[in-house]
Amino acid sequence: MSVDKSIFHRRQRQAETFDYHAGTHPPVLWRSDEQIERYVPTHCCYCGVQCGMYLKVAGGKVVGVEPREDFPLNHGMLCPKGATAYQTVNHPDRLTYPLMRRNGKENPLERTSWDEVLDVIATRFRSIQAEHGKDAVAVYSGSSMTNEKCYLMGKFARVALGTRHIDYNGRLCMSSATGANERSLGIDRAANPISDMLHADCIFVIGANVGECFPIVTSYLWQARDRGCKLIVADPRQTPIARTADIFLPLRSGTDSALLNGMLHVIIDEGLLNEDFIRERTTGWEETKAMVEQYPPERVAKVCGLRPEAIIEAAQMYGQAQAALIYTARGLEHQSKGVDNGVTAVNLALATGNFGRPGAGYGTLTGQGNGQGGREMGQKASQLPGCREIENQQDRAYICTVWGIDEQDLPHAGYPATLMIPAMQRKELRACFMICSNPMVSLPDQHTVERALRGLDLFVVTDFFLSETAELADIVLPGNVWAEDEGTTTSLEGRVIKYNKAVEPPGEARRDWEIACELARRLGKGQYFNFSSPRDIYDELRRCTRGAKSDYWGITYEKIDEQNGVFWPCPSEEHPGTPRLYEQRFGFADGKARFHPIAYIPPAEEPDEEYPLVLTTGRVIYHYLSGNQTRRVPFLMEQAPYPWVEMHEQAAARLGIQDGDWVTVRTRRGEMTAPALVVRSIRPDTLFIPYHYGGTQAANLLTNPVFEPMMKIPEYKVCSATAVRAEHPPEWAKDVDTQALLEAGRRRHELPIAHAQANPTLR
Ligand code: SF4
Repeated sequence: MSVDKSIFHRRQRQAETFDYHAGTHPPVLWRSDEQIERYVPTHCCYCGVQCGMYLKVAGGKVVGVEPREDFPLNHGMLCPKGATAYQTVNHPDRLTYPLMRRNGKENPLERTSWDEVLDVIATRFRSIQAEHGKDAVAVYSGSSMTNEKCYLMGKFARVALGTRHIDYNGRLCMSSATGANERSLGIDRAANPISDMLHADCIFVIGANVGECFPIVTSYLWQARDRGCKLIVADPRQTPIARTADIFLPLRSGTDSALLNGMLHVIIDEGLLNEDFIRERTTGWEETKAMVEQYPPERVAKVCGLRPEAIIEAAQMYGQAQAALIYTARGLEHQSKGVDNGVTAVNLALATGNFGRPGAGYGTLTGQGNGQGGREMGQKASQLPGCREIENQQDRAYICTVWGIDEQDLPHAGYPATLMIPAMQRKELRACFMICSNPMVSLPDQHTVERALRGLDLFVVTDFFLSETAELADIVLPGNVWAEDEGTTTSLEGRVIKYNKAVEPPGEARRDWEIACELARRLGKGQYFNFSSPRDIYDELRRCTRGAKSDYWGITYEKIDEQNGVFWPCPSEEHPGTPRLYEQRFGFADGKARFHPIAYIPPAEEPDEEYPLVLTTGRVIYHYLSGNQTRRVPFLMEQAPYPWVEMHEQAAARLGIQDGDWVTVRTRRGEMTAPALVVRSIRPDTLFIPYHYGGTQAANLLTNPVFEPMMKIPEYKVCSATAVRAEHPPEWAKDVDTQALLEAGRRRHELPIAHAQANPTLR
């Protein structure tokens, strides 16, 4: 399918006639009779694509949305999530006043005043720290927030609370990619702007469901295909983009590094290396070359469950391209070998010289709206703003100068988010301040997580809806949604963009940064949090990143508006920004990239007699992450109201399960029951469950809490499981129209079913 570019051009011409930033002119094409007072240019709050949109404001409320024609990434398109995001702003479920449990955890959350609740938090945090030490309080932050808020959370933890324990939910999302980038390339950012897809001869997507998780990026794939670009997709499921791929490799979950080593083996055999590039711009090649000699396609085919010919063809297609891109996402990264998997992908790109040119590179597609910026701003356990290192003496000294504190008062590295849970169980962590996170859906082994959170002496959650996690809190503070504040985010390209404020928070809800600053004042550290606007915070953030790897010093609010976003690094106000990395140098002191030899190691759990299937989890187009927002939007819930168990018809026949039957999936952690969606678009040895749901619908009741050793990301994408036909529907299914649910799922699968019959790559 091709994009009708004449529509783009017409829209662009219309767009040029309007002064968008004045916010009073109607955008184009989406017409209605509403009397709109203002069109506020901003961006979608959901995935890392950060599509440009206008929020339509009337009567002091956000009443609708229109896509921005002038934003260079989405060019007037939005996916179903973006088109309905505005419905969360005035949603009746919004938290509009603070809540607190009085006299014990068994009592319900009750309304309280800001004055009382902030005093209680400050007093309790102080007394817990006095008794158990400063590190007894943790901050668990998020990455769906602006850079300003992510930055502020790092400073709040280390300066206001003085704790070493601050980390964020990007640990569950982006950390494998970070590890691979840092080990191999020296800079933790996608190498290319998305528009580079239009210059590629071959795009290799491995472990990324682009069509559902980053829908607008699909249009770039289509345009690239129109120009003759080849597409290779590797995934255990035949995802929407896999339907039209030149080569689809339905590999077993958890075997990515074997496949990538095998492709590099073929590339060496066939003389497709870029020897000049390897010699001049890399180190470590000989060790990697020796390692991949052990991965001939015949061996790899057995490991991955593919035909050897398919691996050879894919390697030839990738290796023969003049310019090739590799994109990964959570499929490859959500594994106990996630960093190694990313490194093997980079090895392939380095060996073929695919960096530093239009259409040549490697990148990870960030799932969270600010998945890129959130991992640079100093809210990670071992990081200071600008991707500076908390254990690096120079970095510590520089940040202490900006913050005006003594270096001895700056804590050292703390626990990553996933290790906070066992620390809570050990009573080493006694209290937690959590913002913009929902671990009661998103962490693996939910039963353990619930026990840990319930056992805290004080659990404070800031959110705008009462999430599954907020329901467990002792105190809930009502924060703002993206439309109620300004601030920057950094898209999956590394482009810094800006949200603009459309309306005020409802009722007594406050902006998150105001809550943190007020709490800091009550903790006696107000002098370090004298901010009166997000711009104030941003200007300090810019100073903190000056001269660092992710350098925002030259990126001002005004420049973002003028240029429609600015790519970091941007070391001065005169600098235009850096859309494409590694044109001259990689991110290490010697300017060279690093090869690393990676041996394939199987996942932590492999199928056995008791648990003969592989369970994998992931997203669907209608929901965002833990679903705390999208499960409240009627249109999205109509499409995907409940989880399901996707299985191949061969597996279903073997297990005596029919489409629509209730199926109980069991793993060593627990079980959950959902309707079967029987398809041909998944490997016959694999089950898939979408993870956006909570309680007894949570896929993470089943997943394996084993962590990648360097970055501590959980192995969400592969564990052993069994499935049986359930005798009864689960309690949650009493009023469920199973057929409607399956119809929605089947609509998404019609095409792959037809295509899979003809696909010969599956062994
Ligand atoms: S969810 Fe992502 S792709 Fe969809 S509109 Fe929002 S930013 Fe764009």
